[in-house]
Amino acid sequence: MKHPTYSARQSQLFTKTRKEAPKDEVSKNAQLLIRAGYVHKEMAGVYAYLPLGLRVQNNIKEIVREEMEKIGGQEIIMTSLQRKELWEKTKRWDDEVVDVWFKTELKAGGDIGLAWSHEEPIADMMKNYVASFRDLPIFVYQFQTKLRNELRAKSGIMRGREFVMKDMYSFCLDEAEHTRFYNSTIEAYKRVYERLGIGADTFVTFASGGAFTQFSHEFQTIAETGEDVIYINREKGIAINEEVLNEATLKELAITRADLEEVKTAEVGNIFNFGTQKSEDLGLFYTNDKGEQIPVWMGSYGIGITRVMGLLAEKFSDAKGLVWPEQVAPFRVHLVELQSDNVDVRAEAAEVYRELTEAGVPVLWDDRDVRAGEKFADSDLIGIPLRVVVSEKTLAAGKFECVHRQGGRVEHKSMSELLGQLTA
Ligand code: ATP
Ligand code: MG
Repeated sequence: MKHPTYSARQSQLFTKTRKEAPKDEVSKNAQLLIRAGYVHKEMAGVYAYLPLGLRVQNNIKEIVREEMEKIGGQEIIMTSLQRKELWEKTKRWDDEVVDVWFKTELKAGGDIGLAWSHEEPIADMMKNYVASFRDLPIFVYQFQTKLRNELRAKSGIMRGREFVMKDMYSFCLDEAEHTRFYNSTIEAYKRVYERLGIGADTFVTFASGGAFTQFSHEFQTIAETGEDVIYINREKGIAINEEVLNEATLKELAITRADLEEVKTAEVGNIFNFGTQKSEDLGLFYTNDKGEQIPVWMGSYGIGITRVMGLLAEKFSDAKGLVWPEQVAPFRVHLVELQSDNVDVRAEAAEVYRELTEAGVPVLWDDRDVRAGEKFADSDLIGIPLRVVVSEKTLAAGKFECVHRQGGRVEHKSMSELLGQLTA
C-alpha cells in the first residue's frame, strides 16, 4: 500500500523556529528539536511531538513496523493502566524491585500501575488465546507510550519519563522454536538500524539479564552523549557491555581486554530470553500432543523509538541545525520561494508544490513573507534533505537551485529533472 503524501505550507505551520532553547534544557537533541519546532518540552523528560516531530517519529515507526511484520509480528496496543495483582505474581510490583513505577489509585479503591512495560499484562492476556500446541508460536508487537519515573531525565528525548517504545513479545513451544525467532529478531533489528542510517555504528552487545541464558543482547550505537560504555572489537564484530566485562566473558568470547576499544554508546534496543519463568508465575500453559501442561517459552524485544529519534537528531546535525537522513526526514523537499516585485514567483512555486506532491514527494513550502536570510537559516535548522529555491533568478535560468542539506552540494535542475531524481 502506498501511503498518502501530505505536503504543507510553512505559513500554515503553527510552530515557529527559535534562536534559543529553554535555559534548563541541557541535552543537544532536545535543544535542536525544540529550536526547530519538532517537540515541545512539557517538563523534564516529558515532550510533546509537534507536526514536524510526529512525522519523523512516524517514519521511524514505519521502518520498524515493516521489519516486525516481515518476521511474523502482529500489531496490537495494550493498555496504559495495569492491574497490580499481575505484577505481584512475578514479584515486580514492589518499588524496591522496579524503581521506575508510577502508580495511582482508583476512586472506587484499589491500586493500579501506569505502564512502564507490558510483559506481565501480555502474558496474562495470552491465557485467553493459548490452549494447545497448535496455538503457538505467537509474535505480537506494539508502539506504546511507556511511563517511567526515571531519577535523572537530562538526555532530552533519549531518556524520557514518557516515551515511545516498540516492544515485541514471543510465545513459543520450546527453547528451539524460541531460539529460531530470537535469531530472526537479531537480523530484523540489524536491518532496522541499517535502514535508519546507523547500521555501521550499532553493535549487537553482550549484556547481563538473560533469565535462562548467560547473556541478553543489547543494540548499542556509538554516540557522544550516550549514557552507556561498551567495549568493542570492530574486526571481530564483538561488543561487550561493561557490566559483563570480566574474565569469564572474555574467555567465553575468546578475546583479550587489550583487543577491545572503549566507546560511549546509547542503547537503542534490547532483546531478552525469559525462558518459562514468567509463564509459570502467571499461569500461561499449553497442552502438548501427549496431553501434558507445558509452560510457554517467552521472549521480549524492545526498540526505543523516541530515543532513536534523539540519537539521529544528534548524530545527523551540524552547527546550523538538523541534517535528517532522507528516510526519516519530515519532508523530502523544502521548497523555498524568494519573492520578487518583477515576476510571479508564487505561481511558479505553487506549480512545483503541486507537481511534487502529486508525484508522491512530500514538500514543505516556505511561502512566508520573510527575508531570504531568515528562510535559509530556518531551512538549515529544520534540516530537510533537499532545498529547492524558486526565485527571479531561477525563473530566468529555467532551472531551480537545488541544495543538499548534507554536504551543501548545489545542482541546477529543471522541473522534469527534479521529478525524475525524486521519483527514481
Ligand atoms: P536503560 O538502561 O537505558 O534505562 P532499559 O534497560 O531500562 O534501558 P528496556 O526496558 O529494555 O530499557 O527498554 C527497551 C528500550 O527502550 C531500550 O533499549 C531503550 O532504547 C528504550 N528506553 C528505555 N528507557 C527509556 C527512556 N527512559 N526514554 C527513552 N527510551 C528508553
Ligand atoms: Mg531503564
